[in-house]
Amino acid sequence: MIKEFVEKNKLPKFRENQFNQAIYKDIAFSFDDITTWSKDLREKIKEEVEFFTLEEARVIVSKREDTIKALFKRKKDGKLIETVLMRHRDGRNTVCVSCMVGCPVNCRFCATGKMGFNGNLDAREIVDQVLWASRYLKKLDLEDQKVTNIVFMGMGEPMLNLKSVLESIDVFTDEDKYGMSTRRITISTSGFIPQMNQLFESGFRGRLAISLHAPNQKLRAELMPVAEKFELDELMRTLDNYVELTNKRVSYEYIMIKDKTDTAESARELVDLMKNRLHHVNLIPFNPVRGEDYKRSPKENIKRFTGILEDNGINFTIRVTMGDDVDAACGQLVTKVLKRERRTRD
Ligand code: SAH
Ligand code: SF4
Repeated sequence: MIKEFVEKNKLPKFRENQFNQAIYKDIAFSFDDITTWSKDLREKIKEEVEFFTLEEARVIVSKREDTIKALFKRKKDGKLIETVLMRHRDGRNTVCVSCMVGCPVNCRFCATGKMGFNGNLDAREIVDQVLWASRYLKKLDLEDQKVTNIVFMGMGEPMLNLKSVLESIDVFTDEDKYGMSTRRITISTSGFIPQMNQLFESGFRGRLAISLHAPNQKLRAELMPVAEKFELDELMRTLDNYVELTNKRVSYEYIMIKDKTDTAESARELVDLMKNRLHHVNLIPFNPVRGEDYKRSPKENIKRFTGILEDNGINFTIRVTMGDDVDAACGQLVTKVLKRERRTRD
């Protein structure tokens, strides 16, 4: 946002540096906080540039105050997106960003998928979610509260909005801006192979999470339409390629749906798939969505499943569902609010 302003107004380069320092490092709450600028210059940027492209529609804090979920209205068109800030006990602060309004991929278990696709976010709107989280942390007035990690696991499929995603990552990793290491950035994808290759070619060397959710082609294609086109075998080859390139393990997201993905047979298939691969499996408790009669796995199924993984040396964790009371799963808050609005309109 600053480049155009600096060029248009023929400002010297150091003005840009001052801007970056104030916005990304000192975490300004408005353009007035760029105290290294004259009042006139601040007034000028206020006239020409939007400070924040989103508008807080609702902020919900979990009881333990470790999960903060924000619902934003885009200033552009009033559509809703959501962002989650997770404050981990070990000091990390992770922001889960959205890259789209809704999602066109339509995975059957996903609330965002059920909303359909309502547009791509631009890079600024992605960056603004993180700046919002930075400001939220700064307001807490505790020592050393900074955004330490970013995950593209909110609404939308990053591979289908790759240009904006990459532009936002440039801002996050730019030494003069956020200056974050790419190791702290995770992109999650449902598996669009050509775009994944593009991502690798772009030089991205951050963490990769893959929405696997099923251990064989048939079940995966049933749950995720994208798998019909981009089959599991080829997906695994693509991931192997990334591991070879980076020597980093891939995170495999795996939703536990009762009698669907949580069977003993699925566990054994997952073992075979993970064997000899640098992996980490993230088991995700399923949050029910409307229109499907999938159910959350009962404890005994999870126990049987994880027992098989354990016996075979698979590296896994069961995702702690932080902030259950704030509907932390993908798209769930937006869906709820839209439903409520619809009800009040009717
Ligand atoms: N589109 C990308 C990025 C979004 S990540 C992707 O799919 O990888 C969204 C994550 O939310 C998915 O990995 C999935 O694990 C999780 N998710 C979606 N629907 C869910 C549900 N009903 N219950 C629990 N997790 C869900
Ligand atoms: Fe889209 Fe990811 Fe949800 Fe699938 S899981 S519909 S790709 S957001």
